[in-house]
Amino acid sequence: MQSPNNIEDEWSCSLAPENFRLPRNVKPIHYDLTLEPHFEKAAYSGNVTIQLETLEEAGEVTLHSENLTIGSAFIEGPDRNNRIPFLENVEAGMINFFFGEPLSAGETASLRIKFTGSLRNDISGFYASHYNNPDGSKGVLAVTHMAPTYARRTFPCFDEPAFKATFLVTLISDSHHTCLSNMDIDTVQQFAEQGKKITRFHKTPPMSSYLVSCAVGDLQYIQNMESRVPIRIYTTPSDNVQLTQYAAHIVARGLKFYEDKFKIPFPLPKLDFLAAPTFLPGAVENWGMIMGQSSFFPFDNATDGEDKREAIAETLLHELAHMWFGDLVTVEWWDQLWLNEGGATAMTIDCLRSLEPTWSSCAYRRTGSTAGALGIDAYRSTHPVEMPISSPDDISQGFDQITYSKGAFVLCMLRDYLTPDVFFAAISDYLQAHAYSNAKTSGLWASFEKICGQDIASLMDPWTKKPGYPYLIVSEKNGEINLEQHRFLFTGDVKPEEDQTIWPIFLNTRTASGTTSTILQNRSENLSLDVKTDQHEFYILNANRTSLCRVLYPEERLKKLVQACHSRLLTLQERAGLISDAFAFAQAGNYKTSTVLDLVRSLGENDYLPWTELADQFRNLFQAYIGNQAVSSALKSFYVQITAPISHRLGWDFTGNGDHETQLFKALAFVEAGVAGDSKVLKAAKSMFDKFANGDEHAIHKSIQLGVFRMTLLNGGVKEYNVIFDHAKNAPSSYSRRIAAQSLLATEDPTLVKRTLDAILSKELEPSEAPIILKGLGYSRTARDMAWVWVQENWAQLILAFPDTLGSRDRIIRFTTLYLTTRNQLLALERLVKEQDIRGVERELDHSVEYAQGIIQWLERDTPNVEAWLENWLENEISQGIAF
Ligand SMILES: [Zn+2]
Repeated sequence: MQSPNNIEDEWSCSLAPENFRLPRNVKPIHYDLTLEPHFEKAAYSGNVTIQLETLEEAGEVTLHSENLTIGSAFIEGPDRNNRIPFLENVEAGMINFFFGEPLSAGETASLRIKFTGSLRNDISGFYASHYNNPDGSKGVLAVTHMAPTYARRTFPCFDEPAFKATFLVTLISDSHHTCLSNMDIDTVQQFAEQGKKITRFHKTPPMSSYLVSCAVGDLQYIQNMESRVPIRIYTTPSDNVQLTQYAAHIVARGLKFYEDKFKIPFPLPKLDFLAAPTFLPGAVENWGMIMGQSSFFPFDNATDGEDKREAIAETLLHELAHMWFGDLVTVEWWDQLWLNEGGATAMTIDCLRSLEPTWSSCAYRRTGSTAGALGIDAYRSTHPVEMPISSPDDISQGFDQITYSKGAFVLCMLRDYLTPDVFFAAISDYLQAHAYSNAKTSGLWASFEKICGQDIASLMDPWTKKPGYPYLIVSEKNGEINLEQHRFLFTGDVKPEEDQTIWPIFLNTRTASGTTSTILQNRSENLSLDVKTDQHEFYILNANRTSLCRVLYPEERLKKLVQACHSRLLTLQERAGLISDAFAFAQAGNYKTSTVLDLVRSLGENDYLPWTELADQFRNLFQAYIGNQAVSSALKSFYVQITAPISHRLGWDFTGNGDHETQLFKALAFVEAGVAGDSKVLKAAKSMFDKFANGDEHAIHKSIQLGVFRMTLLNGGVKEYNVIFDHAKNAPSSYSRRIAAQSLLATEDPTLVKRTLDAILSKELEPSEAPIILKGLGYSRTARDMAWVWVQENWAQLILAFPDTLGSRDRIIRFTTLYLTTRNQLLALERLVKEQDIRGVERELDHSVEYAQGIIQWLERDTPNVEAWLENWLENEISQGIAF
């Protein structure tokens, strides 16, 4: 490495350490990038020639470069061909190249850099992805993962989304290897070295560095020709590529849907998908070469459940939407990330509505449920959809539910308000206006204004620029309905200075005589409704749950709405929304928890979509009461009473031909009833598990496997644990390994909990699955308490051991701190935040502290009330002769 002393002063002038953005004096036009992996050395060599355009006179250029060894650099142009010095700023992940004679404004030149790097093991940059071949031998794939800021770990580049350039990728590999990149192959030549070849791909259109993609290794594929461009799905020999037919088919249909809606043909000549053996996010939208976890591709009609079919469709259609939303039109900077992620999520909802019209719960769960935006956005630690980026760590922390779910919800509100035709005309206009370039939120609103002639920015700015969302306090007096909006917080203690935003609420209200739409733009508004025509004086606000707000009804109205539910006057989404809001208001202190338990009891909910919300809410309740044995056990008895009849009625033949939602409901009811302790379900689960342990791998249907493993561990011992642990470590498919891993902590046996935690730290279990394993906390008090102590004791090691690649560390923190329910645990958490190095996970920890505070306040306020309700319920049941 060259680092001449005489230029250090220049360095300090050109790049202040706090500045993590690249200067704008020089920009890239085109990259010629060559990479050659050396598997035996776990390394690679590369060279890149970047054609530069000089915008202002420049004596130097700053690029991103992280963990690369730079061999040499040359600047080449009509009048120059010099080897040039360079200096790295390791901490900033940047490198400066010094031209000697400055480049004058308008001058073009090429920067040629030779470099080497390690094939990484942390699933970022150019990394080695290991797998087991069917014959038991080990295989390895060299593959890239660049998003959002890891291109700089693969080659020196301008690693910001606004620096779009064309890329001509060349891969040097063993002759027998398959080489993939964003574009189709131009030429393949023999390399001078024996047994090697050079694969040269066609030049890409202008695109951002984080979308560049390469793979080298033994790959197999299937090809689908249902759409205009060939679609191929590649897997390593460890996966059965024939099982990816469903994935290819849904993508082909999705491609046609998006091309029709956007009125822009998919611009690349081919579309590849690569199922990577080790990969962290679900999938990533490399242009023309989408990459995902191998578990997101195979679907086996004989053994897989509808939950997996839905996950495949949802994931792949999301990535496919990115080919336009993100790849063709890319965010200007990461503070606009929601345009990529919220956009792709909203497009997927529409695509699925069209391709799979019977999947009615999909859209609700993605946007309207508490598990989506309505959960995390109701804490002070939330952020606006347009999220300020003040450090490099903020970039990866931005990939959260606010960006995805709230971003999508905001667009869905607009779709409902403007009608789908107007909405998609505006989306098409936006994509065409910014094709092969970058965009900001203002550009999106400008297209809407052009198409519909309304001031959309004013309507939408509060939704994207302000944190949080509103709730409506409903009051009824003398037949008049008044609505007052305030910011909703789960902690129920919003301060006046936090409650200044007035959100334009797109409110649909339904009565027996029809639906009316209005936009609430004032703090308080009266609603004139004719509700006398119906025997229940029925009305429902936020009809069909299309607006991002909660509705706080007076308790008397809540009772009338229960009656309206029994009269089938509420849609599935409205019933789910009623449950979601009621629980939220109990947690915030607006209702007593007993009011909500009464509501649940009297609703007698019997449909899948509302049950998805109910199950989420009870999971939250069980986790809150995990440390209170008496309440927890009585709550479980009540829960068995409402879940078991559904499971017994629907049965547990999961291979039958029920429709999509019935199959999902069957699995949900079975698992909910079993984990809560229903003896009939537990008996069935035990019989399935025993057959499974004796070698019948199909004895437990995949759609309930996680639930059955949890039931087994909650009620079993070391023998059962060993079977599941072995499966988590050695099952042939990554999907099966993940299911087993996620169940391991559902045990009250401290030695078994310790064994799992040790296996995470020692990496006996696949490190990329650590967040998945910890996601299974919350079913056992022992596991929760031990994991919390373990995190505190091993903080430094955990931070070092787990890559910061897209949310892996965040999720480890989230899952281990999310179930703290005592004052002592909260104090320890606050101490950890103060005393440990928490860089990169500050936001996650802020949320955990606030979450724990909210739960603890709720428990302190309402536990006597919950105890009294449960006692009363139990007495009633006993008096009716029902024994528990
Ligand atoms: Zn995405």
